[in-house]
Amino acid sequence: MKKKPAFAVVAVLFAIHSVLATPRTQASTLPPNDLHLEDDIARLDANIDEAEFNSIIDKAMAFYVPLAKEHGGNLSVERLWENKMVNASALRMGPIWKIYMYGGLARRPEVTPDGFQVVVCHELGHLFGGFPFYRTIFGGLVWFSVEGESDYFATQSCARELWKHEHEQNAVHRVTVDFYAQQRCDMTWSGRRDRDLCYRIADASASLAKLLATPEKGEKPSFATPSRESVARTSRKHPKAQCRLDTYFEGALCPENRDPSIIPAKRLAGYFGTFFNRRAEKQAASQSCHSAEGYFEGVRPRCWFAPVWMGEQ
Ligand SMILES: [Zn+2]
Repeated sequence: MKKKPAFAVVAVLFAIHSVLATPRTQASTLPPNDLHLEDDIARLDANIDEAEFNSIIDKAMAFYVPLAKEHGGNLSVERLWENKMVNASALRMGPIWKIYMYGGLARRPEVTPDGFQVVVCHELGHLFGGFPFYRTIFGGLVWFSVEGESDYFATQSCARELWKHEHEQNAVHRVTVDFYAQQRCDMTWSGRRDRDLCYRIADASASLAKLLATPEKGEKPSFATPSRESVARTSRKHPKAQCRLDTYFEGALCPENRDPSIIPAKRLAGYFGTFFNRRAEKQAASQSCHSAEGYFEGVRPRCWFAPVWMGEQ
């Protein structure tokens, strides 16, 4: 029997899609840079030693390894203390979930222990952050969060979960937090403990933004000067330092708490088309703050995120 041509075309297109749709499942914290040239294993201006490097990683792993198991993932970490690379990365390959943490980044003088915790959270964000995802060349959703989402997850969920019971350490940031950041934390949060946690996340974000701005050699990012950029389509790339500071801080200002056992829109990975895109964004909105639900504070900044879901549906 002769095959119908339409069926043959669809079959061929599907085969091409399957071959080319190899999921992009590896990403880093910074774009490639040459800051490793400035590194020295014994640098005196580092804020973190090897023991602290390990304990910061341990804290995150204790929380996220069991959660990865619930999703069929075997989460592990490569602790590369002696490596000079100023970066960190994440990988997902079937059941293998892995993050790579380099000593070169932890030794940077801009990075505080809390800033380093947020870097660990960013890497976990590629795995746990949910939509917005990377895409295949045909626009299909790949379960691996884009850079901006990994940043947003790092503060809206991860750092918040890891620090929410550390009331004393959080309270220390009442005196160190940036004035403008403090005002915005106070407008969003009314409880003393919630405010303290917001201040601590703001301080950690400022430390990291300083590092991210170093290779850019441009204007220093500040809480008072949010990015005015507005993308037409959600970006998967590393945003500029100011935009990343905005994202970290908006995460701290979102009053919605994520359920850490949920990876928003994970089940929609593999699908493509605007219908699935909107559905995925709606699912992500249910675990965060979205303008379509009336939020002005705590939303993903427009410098990397272009919403397509306008509410309901
Ligand atoms: Zn990343």
